[in-house]
Amino acid sequence: GTLSIASILAETARRFPERTALWFMGQSTTYGDLWDQTRAYAGALAARGIGPGSRVAMIVPNVPDFARVYYATLALGAVVIPVHLLFRSDEIEFVLKDAGADLVVVAAPMLAEAAPAAAKAGVPMVTVLVPDAVKQQLAAQGTEVVRLEEEAAAASPIERHAGVNPLAAATILYTSGTTGTPKGAVGSHLAMVEQVHCSLIDSFDLRPDDVVYGGLPFFHSFGQMAVLNIAFRRGASIILLPKFDPDEALELLVAHGATVFTAVPTNFAEMVEAARRSSARPPLRYAVSGGAALPVALLEAFEEAYGAQVHEGYGLTETSPSCTFNVTSEPIRPGTVGRSMWGVDVAVAVADVEDRVELLSSGLGEIVVRGHNLMKGYLGRPDASAAAVVDGWFRTGDLGTVDADGIVTIVDRKKDMIIRNGYNVYPTEVEAVLARYPGVAMAAVFGVPDEKRGQEVHAAVVPSYGTEIDPDAVVAYMKEHVAAYKYPRVVHVSADLPLGPSGKVLKRELTARHSASTV
Ligand code: ATP
Repeated sequence: GTLSIASILAETARRFPERTALWFMGQSTTYGDLWDQTRAYAGALAARGIGPGSRVAMIVPNVPDFARVYYATLALGAVVIPVHLLFRSDEIEFVLKDAGADLVVVAAPMLAEAAPAAAKAGVPMVTVLVPDAVKQQLAAQGTEVVRLEEEAAAASPIERHAGVNPLAAATILYTSGTTGTPKGAVGSHLAMVEQVHCSLIDSFDLRPDDVVYGGLPFFHSFGQMAVLNIAFRRGASIILLPKFDPDEALELLVAHGATVFTAVPTNFAEMVEAARRSSARPPLRYAVSGGAALPVALLEAFEEAYGAQVHEGYGLTETSPSCTFNVTSEPIRPGTVGRSMWGVDVAVAVADVEDRVELLSSGLGEIVVRGHNLMKGYLGRPDASAAAVVDGWFRTGDLGTVDADGIVTIVDRKKDMIIRNGYNVYPTEVEAVLARYPGVAMAAVFGVPDEKRGQEVHAAVVPSYGTEIDPDAVVAYMKEHVAAYKYPRVVHVSADLPLGPSGKVLKRELTARHSASTV
C-alpha cells in the first residue's frame, strides 16, 4: 500500500492528524480532516464506478478541493488527469478524449469552458464549489449540475487507500504545450514515490513546522510534486493561492509566516517588484526556483529583497519532474541547476544523433536523464515515446553541460536556439545579461524570421515598477556587453510578457507577435 502516492496523505494524517495541511482564504484544514474528506470523496467516486485503472480528469485550481479530488482518485487506484486551468473548451475536449476520461471533476470557475467540452466528449461531469445561484442559472440553460460535495455527504467513505502495482499509471500530465501540441505523459506510482521519498526529500530541508507557499499550479508537475506532495510528505502547511498575484502573494506569505517560497522565475521577478511596493517581509528560510532559467541578477535581487537564498533546480513533466537541484544543505552555485538528485542519473549526449544515445564525457550536448522517475511514455503515442526514450535515457531537448564535479548547467532548449547568420545564439545567455540592465523587471529573447539572416534576435522587456525604459538605450547596452552576432537588434518594451499556465514565458507567442511587422 505504501507504494501508492495516496499513502502520502494517509500516513501523514495518521501521524499528525491535528497539524494544519492547508490554509485557504484564512481557513485552515488539518491533515486528519483532509484525509476524512478525501475518503468521503473517494466513496462518492467509487459509487460512480471509479476504481483501479479508471481515469478521472479534474479541472480544479489550487483550493482544498484539488487535494481532495486528487488523493481520492489515487486512493482508489484510479489515474488522475489534472487539466491546465487556462485550457479553452476545444483543448479540454481534446484532453478528455485523448486520455479516455471516465469522469471529469470541474470547479465552478472552469464550468463555462468545461461543460460543453464534457458534453461533446461524452464524459460524465461532476462539480465542486458551484454556488446555488450558478446551479439554478445553469439549470435554466439546460445544464444539470451534479455536486460531488453532495454525493460525498451521501456516500460511505472508503476505509483505506487501495494497494497498487507500483508500475501502474498514477497521473497523466499534459505537457503545457510551450513548444507544441500537448502530449499526455503517463507517470507511475513508482516514479512519483521515488521522486518524493528519495529525490525531493533528500534535496530540500523541509520540516513539519514549515509553511510553504502554494501558488504554483498543482495541475503542473512542478507544483504538484515540489509543493503539494513533498509538503504533505513532511506534514508541513501549504498556503493556497488559486491565481498568482504578487501583491496578494506577499500579503499571504507575511500573514501566514511563510518559510519556503517555491516558484518559476517570472514569479520571482514579480515578487521583487511587489517588494518595491510593500515593506512587509515573510520569515522565509529559503526559496526554490525551477521550470525555466533563473537569471543570476534576478536570484540576487530576490535574495536582497527577501533575505532568502534561492535554490535552483531543473526538471521536466516527463521526469516527475525534478532531475537536478542546488540542495539546501550546500552552498548554491548561481547560474547552474546543481547536481543530479538522489535516484536520478543525468548525462550529456551528442545532440544531433537520432537513433541512439551517445554519451559525451565533457562539453556541450543534449541533457539526457535515466531513473525510476521517468514517465511510462506518452499516452497513445508510441512513436513519440520511442523517440523520447532511447536505450533507457530520456532526451530532454535541452542543451547543457555537466562539469567534473557533476554540476549541471542548462544552456537552453534546443528549440529556442536562434540561428542568426549561421551563428548559434542561446536566448538564456542573452537574457541573463539583459536582466542586469537597470530597470528591467523581466526580459525574454527570441528569434524572428528574417529574410537576410534567417533569424533576427529580438528582446521583449518589462520595465520595473515606476521605471521607464528607452529601447535604443537597451540595444546600445547589449551591444557593449555581448558579441556582435548575439545582441538584440530590436527591443520591444511592454507592460507584460505572454505567460503559459505555469507562469513560463511563451516564446512561440512572442515570435508570432513580432514576426508580422518585420517580414
Ligand atoms: P513542452 O511543451 O516542451 O513540454 P513545457 O515548458 O511545458 O514545454 P515542462 O515539462 O513544463 O514543459 O518544462 C520542462 C522544460 O523547462 C525543460 O525541458 C527546460 O527546457 C525547462 N526548464 C526547467 N527547469 C529549468 C531550469 N532551471 N533552467 C532552464 N530551463 C529549465
